[in-house]
Amino acid sequence: MILKEPTPELLKACSIAAQVREYARTLVKPGASLLEVTDKLEKRIHELGAEPAFPTQLSLNHIAAHNYPDAGEKLVLSNEVVKIDVGVHVKGYIGDTAVTVDLSGKYGKMVEAAEAALAAAIKVVKPGVELRQIGAAILGEISKRGFSPVRNLSGHGLDSFEIHSAPNIPNYDNGDTTRLEKGQLIAIEPFATDGAGIVQEGAYATLFALVKEAPVRLPAARKIMKYIAENYGELVFAKRWLKAKFPAIEVEFALRTMLQAGIVRAYPPLGEQQRGIVTQAEHTVLVTDPALVLTSLSQQS
Ligand code: MN
Ligand code: MN
Repeated sequence: MILKEPTPELLKACSIAAQVREYARTLVKPGASLLEVTDKLEKRIHELGAEPAFPTQLSLNHIAAHNYPDAGEKLVLSNEVVKIDVGVHVKGYIGDTAVTVDLSGKYGKMVEAAEAALAAAIKVVKPGVELRQIGAAILGEISKRGFSPVRNLSGHGLDSFEIHSAPNIPNYDNGDTTRLEKGQLIAIEPFATDGAGIVQEGAYATLFALVKEAPVRLPAARKIMKYIAENYGELVFAKRWLKAKFPAIEVEFALRTMLQAGIVRAYPPLGEQQRGIVTQAEHTVLVTDPALVLTSLSQQS
């Protein structure tokens, strides 16, 4: 989307996303349950007056993104490298932000690489800059610390109720000479790794999104499809959210049916190909000169 100036809804969404991200930093500790932390973060989003733009994700070690607990998840954090990815919307205006917490104490330099890459990218952002220049700034900071960017993950434009719209913001110089436009709303999200710099989809998804409604024979599946359309539209939702409303067996069956029919699509965890550790940092940014970082704490009133 292109904005003359940030709307009150956008400022609110970005402020809440930043607050929840910082709250997450305080909760992500050895001994904390993944499920409980996730619940607390999503509860806080609602308490602050927003909705999740996607399920709040805590992705561990070589998983770059899309890790989300199913109902009954028992995992307790101990010494992982945890990517915290928070997306919040207010009336469809989205704030998207991420940070990495290293519970192992061994990957500080890789955390710094993602943060420095984000800072360098933000410095480059202004109307007229080529996308490849942002990628080059990211690559520079990550490679000079001895790591690789994840090349098949990228930043993105943000639209109304739409997390991933054009343009694609590369995490390396991909030669894209498309220029940023004044007032464009984008998310920049470098990932650093000591692996190959490629992620691939895992097998078991807990995250889904509606593609399009279509006739389904089974009443239970039809009821769940309606619920998804009314409550999440085309935004990503968690299987666990449905299990809070419907019997687990109906949810599993409905999702399988809808996947086969192409009514929903799955977002499985994205794991680094060589099981390299992955770090991430992300801000939502308005393309002005200088760039306006909407999800930074200094932006909060
Ligand atoms: Mn994100
Ligand atoms: Mn994003």
